Amino acid sequence: MSAQIIAIANQKGGVGKTTTCTNLGIGLAREGKKVLLVDADPQGSLTISLGYPQPDKLPFTLSEAMGHILMDEPIPQGEGILHHPEGVDFIPANIQLSGMEVSLVNAMSRESILRQYLETMKEQYSHILIDCQPSLGMLTVNALAAADRIIIPVQAEYLPAKGLEQLLSTIGKVKRQLNPKLQVDGILLTMVDNRTNFAKEIAALLRDTYGNNIRVFCSEIPHSVRAKEISVEGKSIFVHDPNGRVAEGYRNLTKEVLSLEKQREKHSADLSR
Ligand code: ADP
Ligand code: MG
Repeated sequence: MSAQIIAIANQKGGVGKTTTCTNLGIGLAREGKKVLLVDADPQGSLTISLGYPQPDKLPFTLSEAMGHILMDEPIPQGEGILHHPEGVDFIPANIQLSGMEVSLVNAMSRESILRQYLETMKEQYSHILIDCQPSLGMLTVNALAAADRIIIPVQAEYLPAKGLEQLLSTIGKVKRQLNPKLQVDGILLTMVDNRTNFAKEIAALLRDTYGNNIRVFCSEIPHSVRAKEISVEGKSIFVHDPNGRVAEGYRNLTKEVLSLEKQREKHSADLSR
């Protein structure tokens, strides 16, 4: 086994990155995959929504792990990895991580510290999902440098115009300079309000603008207060509201991500024949 690493990224906050990381991750675990989630946001929202409301009290987080890599010190197997009852492992984060980001600036191979850390665990998982912080700073660059694939959640309520250009240009730069295997899996429309046609218009606009280069996922995540509730509950939407539309959206997304993966495998097998 060698994990597929998927970064969930968008420098805009509040677009559904953390919610997607949690529910796609648990969705994959429900399909029998071995999943590690990585909280790469100093705000620790992923850690909180996985049932640790006080991330600052945790003794070992992503910041400590990256610190060990920076100092070239070994990390004991599984150190700091927490387990969620719904079958995913995760490495938590807290505010310490913003100090780590600052110390990265002057470090040797500063863009590849997260990649080096995840390499120590790649054989134990089939999927590693990274919940990025809302910026294009050094932590996000580390996530993009470590990733095989990126999912970009976009809130269907606003025109995502300019921010998306910036993100795509950063992705392009990382691909050229640090990580040639990096691919965009697609743009995911989140918080879709089906009472308006806004989501349809935005999806059409995104397809017009990027359609040839970037997929817009067929699966969409509807807007629902039930989705809002889960971060406090420490549960996934599959447990909190299993028959609701958001659970259905994340189930569809999970299937779409897995089928994309199959297509890629087949494609590369065909090429090497
Ligand atoms: P990000 O990680 O990009 O900042 P979050 O996943 O934290 O975004 O989501 C931002 C806010 O929107 C949170 O309060 C979250 O609970 C809420 N939210 C996420 N997905 C949905 C949804 N499908 N419907 C309604 N609210 C949502
Ligand atoms: Mg978040």
